[in-house]
Amino acid sequence: MEPTTTTTKLNLTQDEIVGILESYSQAADRLKESHDVLQLEVRRLREELANKNRQLERRKRLAALGEMAAGLAHEIRNPLGGIQLYANLLKKDLTGQLEQLQIVDKIIMGVRSLDALVTDVLAMTHTVEPKFAAMDLVQVVGTAVELVQPQLAEKQSQVSIHSPASLEMFGDPNMLQRAFLNLIRNAVDAAGQGGQVFIDLNRKQKFILMQVADTGPGIDPEITDRIFNPFFTTKDTGTGLGLSIVHRIIEAHDGTIKVGNAPAGGANFTLKFPYKVSTVQSQGSE
Ligand code: ADP
Repeated sequence: MEPTTTTTKLNLTQDEIVGILESYSQAADRLKESHDVLQLEVRRLREELANKNRQLERRKRLAALGEMAAGLAHEIRNPLGGIQLYANLLKKDLTGQLEQLQIVDKIIMGVRSLDALVTDVLAMTHTVEPKFAAMDLVQVVGTAVELVQPQLAEKQSQVSIHSPASLEMFGDPNMLQRAFLNLIRNAVDAAGQGGQVFIDLNRKQKFILMQVADTGPGIDPEITDRIFNPFFTTKDTGTGLGLSIVHRIIEAHDGTIKVGNAPAGGANFTLKFPYKVSTVQSQGSE
């Protein structure tokens, strides 16, 4: 028997065909829109992943360096304690002998700066666990500025602070003071004789924003990527640990630190961290 074929004819009017084509074109537009949105989201997630990978790499590097540095610090601290002890004993024997006393004082100063270096290496490499407490951030910044007074007097430079009268929050006051001190010291150093440092501190909704800018030469864009790395320094007597400690402290407060140059030329460090009002309640989500 021959197979039979059935053909159904669609008797569509012109209006119906136009309607179908319009719906098709609208569906295609919607598909394109969702494709664009998806593409943007994929790009954002890729950037986030690259950022997290960079952070992870940095942590791994620091952990390896930390193990080595902690061992080294211990080995250095022991003989250092001995040198200090003997230098102090020698001092007692040298009463009245000015020239020799000056030499011993230089030895003691050397020991102190080595000890400070060891403390910095440990601060940079140890896992940083902040001890959160209620504190006034404005006061913490004020204390850091007071600590650089001798440097300011020597260089006849000035620090001006622009902030509210107080800014109560939860954070680790000792760590934050150390971070601010490092930033301000660097700024005073860079600004040089008669230079100026500007600190701007504010709360913007759920974040604390802080800027430390100076009238120094600014930062060469070629080194911007490296200045937060441990032991990176351009100074003859620098250790290159200051900014890596600042980075760790701000990270421990779930914050970020960026550097750029102010329009007037000097360096401009921008800090941003969540405004926390208790140890448990983080108000930092955007
Ligand atoms: P150190 O002060 O011992 O060099 P840091 O980690 O504090 O170590 O700083 C690293 C480098 O970053 C400095 O040697 C300097 O080149 C650069 N730097 C830091 N702060 C400033 C600033 N305010 N202006 C210009 N350069 C800066």
